[in-house]
Amino acid sequence: MSSGGGCPKCGAALSRPNVGQPWCPRCEWNLGRYDPEVMPPRGWRWLDRLGHRAAFRMDRGLFDRLRGTRPAPPGWTLARMLLTAVSALLVLLTLACAVAGVWLITLAFPSFLIVLGGGLLLLAYALRPRLGRAPQKRRTLRRDQSPTLFGLIDRVAAASGAAVPDVIAVEPVFNANTRRFGIRQRSVLGLGIPLWCTLGPGPRVALLAHELAHSVNGDPTRALLIRPALDTFRMLAEVTGAKRPFEPTGREKNHFINLLSEMVLWVISRVLLLVHVGLRALAARDHQTSEYLADGLAAEVAGRDAMIELMDRLVLLPEIETLIAYNAGSRPPSRWRAMAESLQTRRMEDQLPQLRQLSLRETSLWSSHPPTGLRIRMIESRTFEAPRLTLSDEESARIDDELAGWYGATQRLLAGRPRYGGTVTAPL
Ligand SMILES: [Zn+2]
Ligand SMILES: [Zn+2]
Repeated sequence: MSSGGGCPKCGAALSRPNVGQPWCPRCEWNLGRYDPEVMPPRGWRWLDRLGHRAAFRMDRGLFDRLRGTRPAPPGWTLARMLLTAVSALLVLLTLACAVAGVWLITLAFPSFLIVLGGGLLLLAYALRPRLGRAPQKRRTLRRDQSPTLFGLIDRVAAASGAAVPDVIAVEPVFNANTRRFGIRQRSVLGLGIPLWCTLGPGPRVALLAHELAHSVNGDPTRALLIRPALDTFRMLAEVTGAKRPFEPTGREKNHFINLLSEMVLWVISRVLLLVHVGLRALAARDHQTSEYLADGLAAEVAGRDAMIELMDRLVLLPEIETLIAYNAGSRPPSRWRAMAESLQTRRMEDQLPQLRQLSLRETSLWSSHPPTGLRIRMIESRTFEAPRLTLSDEESARIDDELAGWYGATQRLLAGRPRYGGTVTAPL
């Protein structure tokens, strides 16, 4: 990133990212510009641009509304009621498909209606509501294996008024997540080991507090009742080819029928995508409100500075992932935290403020969280008391010992791919 040239609005020097359009770091001129170089197109270009503009405005609008306050859980908003209604309709439709399928098959058995009935049954199966998959047993932690970590999670839960997750699972990703699975909707905390082992005590508490807060932040997008509305159209759009650009292959090019069917499928997939984007946009506001709520709770528990340190770590994550993966073969996991922290300190002096800003541009209606730059500003806009909970260096180191086996596995995994870029998704 370099500077040069002046802002047409305020005259300040512009920021020029390595990829994409310049913007003004002072008045944020041109920051909200849709940049296909940064955000790869998903469907129709005009739709992406429209979606980006809507997302950027919504991000700002919500930020302005919530700044300086402790947001309340979104509750039963109009959006949530609409999404619940759509979900109910989808579930009924799926059931109807299943019933009609069985009916057709048994109507005049055996007859050609079997094919039609079988098709409907398959469709019903494909559209069935998803309950979430259980984590692999070998990747779940037991309390007796990591008593200090479990103790810390108990304390974070108590300090934030959240529930203790039913299952703690380790994952080979630079991330963490909370999700639910099964009929009883048991909660899982998924702890990405590569991220965890690079965090110091403060950000560790902040990360756990944010994730645990998902059980109390009233996030409607996690409610089982609205999942069908948020999943079904994406699934259908992907099945009909929404991920591929419209390009008939050479062999098919001469066949009019193939070309026609490709075109029809293309249009169907884009229409489904449009519906999906609309539903996502409907859910986004409530979803982001609950993310801000979880961030605020995390800052109350872990302290403002620890939370901001964690958020900055997220801003720098692409760079940190590459740094660690590149050095994984030669440096043990015990050194990774120092590597990440020294990079963060260096960036703090030069690029971090601009990278925080740039995260505002990298928004879309697909983003599950508000831009990290705005999450940081939201924390900065509030005053927080002293942290409710601190983790000592000694305890933090004991957790490292408890997880040493997983750190080793992570190192072997990362060391196997020196030209690594992106998120690790291979099995740990
Ligand atoms: Zn300016
Ligand atoms: Zn979250």
